[in-house]
Order: sequence, then C-alpha cells, then structure tokens
Amino acid sequence: MTLLRTLIWFAVAAVAMLGAVWLAERPGNVTVEWRGWRLDTSVGVLLVAVAILILLGVALWLLYRWIVGAPGALIEGWGDSRRRRGYRELTQGLAAVAAGDGGEAQRHARKAEQLLAEPQLTLLLSAQAAQLTGDRDGSRRAFNAMLEDEQMAFLGLRGLIAQSLRDGDQAQALSYAERAFKLRPQTPWVVHSLFDMQAQIGRWREAQETLDAGLRRKVVTQDKGRTLKALLLVERSRATERDGSEADALALAREAFGLAPERIAVSSRLAELQIKAGDGRRALRTLERGWALAPHPDLTALYLKASGENDPLKRVGIVRKLVAQKPDDLESNLALAQAALDAGLWGEARRYLDAAGGTSPSARVCRLMAEVEERAQSDQAKVHEWLARAATAPADRAWRCSACGAQHESWRSVCESCGAFGTLHWRAPGTYGHILPPEVQQTPALQAPLSS
Ligand SMILES: [Zn+2]
Repeated sequence: MTLLRTLIWFAVAAVAMLGAVWLAERPGNVTVEWRGWRLDTSVGVLLVAVAILILLGVALWLLYRWIVGAPGALIEGWGDSRRRRGYRELTQGLAAVAAGDGGEAQRHARKAEQLLAEPQLTLLLSAQAAQLTGDRDGSRRAFNAMLEDEQMAFLGLRGLIAQSLRDGDQAQALSYAERAFKLRPQTPWVVHSLFDMQAQIGRWREAQETLDAGLRRKVVTQDKGRTLKALLLVERSRATERDGSEADALALAREAFGLAPERIAVSSRLAELQIKAGDGRRALRTLERGWALAPHPDLTALYLKASGENDPLKRVGIVRKLVAQKPDDLESNLALAQAALDAGLWGEARRYLDAAGGTSPSARVCRLMAEVEERAQSDQAKVHEWLARAATAPADRAWRCSACGAQHESWRSVCESCGAFGTLHWRAPGTYGHILPPEVQQTPALQAPLSS
C-alpha cells in the first residue's frame, strides 16, 4: 500500500516537473485589460496565481466549516462521554451483583440512573442490588416498575414470582406465573413453574392444560410428559374416588396405567381400585406387570390382599409367583424373606436375606435378620450383632426426590421439600449425581424453583 502510494506521488511530481519545464521552454505573454487597468504577465505566473487562489478558497471553506460545526460537536462529545460513564457505572454495578456486593451495586445503580436517561436499563440492576441488600420493598418496586415496560415486563414477572415464593405467598406467585405464561408460553421455566404451582395446590386439570401446552411447544419432552400426565391422572383418580365416583376413578387409573406402568404409584393405584371393585384377578395381573417394571413392598401387600389368601405358608407361594416377574431384584428377595418370616420358615428367610444383602447388607436386611434370629429364638448375641450392623449399614431404597434429594415416608405426587411434581422415586441414595455444583444453584439471580 505504502509502496503504491509512493509510486503515485512520484508520478504526480514527475508530471508537474515536466509541465513546468514544458511551460518554461515555451514562454508566452498574457495581457489583461479591464476598465483602464492593464496587466502584463507570463503564462507560468498566471497558472501559479490560479493554483494559489484555489488553495486559499479551500482553506477558507475548511475554516468556515470548523467555526460553524464546533459547538454541536462539543455538545455531542459531552453527551457521548456522559453515556459512556453511565454504561461504565452499569457494567460495574452488574459486576458488583455478580460478586454479591449489594452496597456497591446500589451505588453504581444510582449513578447509572443519573447518567443514563434510560430507566429500563438501570431497573434490573437496581432490583438485583436491592435483592442483595435484603431490601424487599426496593426490589419489589423495581420489578413492578419493569412491568410498565413491554420489553422488561417478563423479567419483572420472573423477579416477582421468585420474591413471592420466598415470601411464602403462593397465590400471588401463581397469579404472576399465569401472567408470565400468557406473555411467553414457550419459555421452559415459565411452563415448569406454573405446572408445579398448579399441582401444589391440587389444580390437576389446570396443571394438565399447562402440561399439554408445554408438550405442544416442545418445552416438555414426550417421555416426561407421558409420566407426568399419568401421575396427574392418579391424583385425579383419588379426587374422583373421594367424590364418590368409583367407576370414573377406576377409568382414570386405567388410563394412567396405560401411559406409565413403570411408576409404582400408578400400578398400585389401579390395583387398589380393582381390588375395591372386587376384581382381584385383574389386580393380580396389574401388580405382576408393575413388579416386572418397578418392584416395591406396597405391591406385595396389594398382591396378597388381591389373592385373598390368609394361610401364611400358602402366602409364601403367592409371593413367589409375584416376584417371578423379576426374580433377581433386591425387592424380590426381601419380599420372599418377609413372607418366609411370617410363615416361620427361618432357614428360608435367612437364605433370601443373604441373597438380598450380598457382601454389604443394607439397614433393612440387617433389621430383618435381627427379627429372624429373635423369632427363631436363637442366640441373643446374634440379634444384637444384626441390630448393631443395621445402625452403620448402607441406607436403603426410599422415596427420594430427584430434584432436591429429600426423603419421604410414603409416595406423594408433590415433593414436600421443594414443591416439584412427580419427582419422587423409589431409589437408594446417591443415585442422582449433581447436575450443577451447589454454588451455581445459589446465585442471587432471579430464580424460581424449577422441577427437573
Ligand atoms: Zn424435592
């Protein structure tokens, strides 16, 4: 580039020099006569005079432009630096929020507000700063002000939902979530939050509508939608039964079983109603299918009830028929051990418990072993040994929430600890793993609890 420019300059200089030489070699005179004035000069001098006049004209024009344009440019530059300072305050404020320094964030928010005449930009910072310093009224004011602006309304609603949930005001949170859902029904957290909130207060039909909308917009996967729908049907079946309509309750439970037979709550609900309707044979088939997919002690109890058998020895044979659906499972061995124990078959009970416990028997296995030794009237030392082992044994399968890890005594559709719907699974602890490290989950950002 530089080389090319140098070459061009050389060419221009050469042409100018040649022109000057050419003119000098061909002297000529110019005479101007005007109103009694007479000017005699050479062509060369005239050309130089014309060139000087042109340069002078250009210089005057540039001077004029500079004088006229200066104040505007100055004002523009001043406004620019004001906006730049405002943005810098905004950036520093956001950095302070990220660092968790509420006081610092508030200071920057106030300065940014003064410098930038754009309230919607600084509102979010003000709201977060207020949240950090624990100023509930301040953050509520800022979030409410966001509702006025079309672009910020959704963000404001998110903040208000989170704040209402923290305040324990579920009704208010639900109404904000409904508004957010109307604004953006395609946003995953809105669908999940609204669904969980509706489920928490037992609005099963509305939760179903939210779920359907989520499925249509592909916010909820087909597989997850299927199981959630089945669990909603279980809840509706319970409510219908309470209202006295057992036939409808049974129809709902059957629909749920068709969707998700692998959920223990679903198979036990259907079997319960089939037994109640006097259809023990169907209940046995339901439970056998359920056991093959997901065995659980509740299913054993229902199976024995459906069989109508009361003789302890015969009950062992009935349990054997059930567990044949999944013979190697821990629950199968435990169910057989319990039945053998009830029938007084100590040796058989010990054998099944050995199979269930393996090298590190769980607390449940140890307690059952202690019971076997106690009832078999063997050495008391053995009983104590098993009870001592139970205290330090690995924890058993239990109803655990896959969202928060909380443990529950019995199955329920909504986790009492985190409020998520359909997250309770019959599992041993430590089978989930963390998706996010804890510190990421606890950022002071605007967050509502979401079910997974
Ligand atoms: Zn939970």
